[in-house]
Amino acid sequence: MNWKEQIKNKLKEQKNLQLWRNRTIVENNNTRFLTIKGKRYYNFSSNDYLGFSQNKKIIHAWKKGSLITGVGASASTHMIGYSYLHAELEKKIAKWLGYSRALLFNSGYSANQAVIQLLMKKSDCILADKRIHASFLEAAKNSQAKLYRFLHNDVNSLEKLIQKNNNTNNTLIITEGLFSMDGDYSPLKDIVKKIKNKEWLLVDDAHGIGIIGKQGRGSCFLQKVKPELQIITFGKAFGLSGAALLCDNDVADYFLQFSRHLIYSTAISPAHVYTLLKSLSMIKKSGSLRKKLYNNIHFFKNMLKKLPIKLYGYDSPIQPLIIGKKDKTIQLASILRSLDCWVTPILPPTVPEKTSRLRITITAAHKKKDILHLIKALHYATKF
Ligand SMILES: *Cc1c(COP(=O)(O)O)cnc(C)c1O
Repeated sequence: MNWKEQIKNKLKEQKNLQLWRNRTIVENNNTRFLTIKGKRYYNFSSNDYLGFSQNKKIIHAWKKGSLITGVGASASTHMIGYSYLHAELEKKIAKWLGYSRALLFNSGYSANQAVIQLLMKKSDCILADKRIHASFLEAAKNSQAKLYRFLHNDVNSLEKLIQKNNNTNNTLIITEGLFSMDGDYSPLKDIVKKIKNKEWLLVDDAHGIGIIGKQGRGSCFLQKVKPELQIITFGKAFGLSGAALLCDNDVADYFLQFSRHLIYSTAISPAHVYTLLKSLSMIKKSGSLRKKLYNNIHFFKNMLKKLPIKLYGYDSPIQPLIIGKKDKTIQLASILRSLDCWVTPILPPTVPEKTSRLRITITAAHKKKDILHLIKALHYATKF
């Protein structure tokens, strides 16, 4: 089979398996509402938990930043792309989270790939939570290290794997602070207790950072653990994009010397970094926005209690409604759309087989009446 045939076959198979992924053209997204094909929807699909992507002060910083610095970095950080703003943001992020160093990456995806690619060698081993983000898995499968998965949030399952792999060289344990598709929290404190001494822990807190704990310092800070490596991303609560790796001095220097993701990629635009600095300073002071977010979450959960709909029930902005079957999930999402609610259906392989779901996200930008509208729509849609 040549490439052309291979591609055609694969596309056909994807359609037949009902796994076809569509992109939707969005005309307007202000976090609370979406406009698609001229129709306005309540937006329950956004990771912009604090509404920062639409925040006037942050938009102003974006404008001001671009006037001060221009719009592009013009080179990688190892050439001339590392501005005083990049240095300042790395310093502030490191201090905020209590690490010696922070390194900026263009995205969480590339940061996760970079960590696996650089650290994991042949006689090493990765112990990853079963529900870890796709960005790790792909890199892990392509690395020479062994990959084992422990049962989701199950420390006993992790402990068994630790014992079994006692004689491997280096072991990296990977989990998320707040899981992106399930909205549940990792028992980080218990995980740390199971770690003997040679294993390193990596926590990806893409969803927890900015919304959990004092000053929004995230899952690790709240649970009083300090993993050797932490990844945070700026595409969720920060309202922008990009990521940072938190680590000690030697690890940071090692990445700067050897990580191809850092060396051969254009730096984040300095205007963007200027905006991230604003976003960071606002996140620290956003206690009342976080309160509003959690009030909205509690309101949603309380109202839902009156309906015959079961959720996992975690106090988190990610509220998955597990449906099971793919076609049923797609059908429900479509009914909700006809009732002006935009909720993304999440299907395998993004989530395990038979756990297709509607991933509802609640943000601080929602008003109570928006949530009530969703509750009514859910009530109606699930009657079928
Ligand atoms: C969103 C996400 C990523 C990817 O980050 P990007 O900056 O969007 O590339 C990585 N890990 C987790 C857990 C995520 O939710």
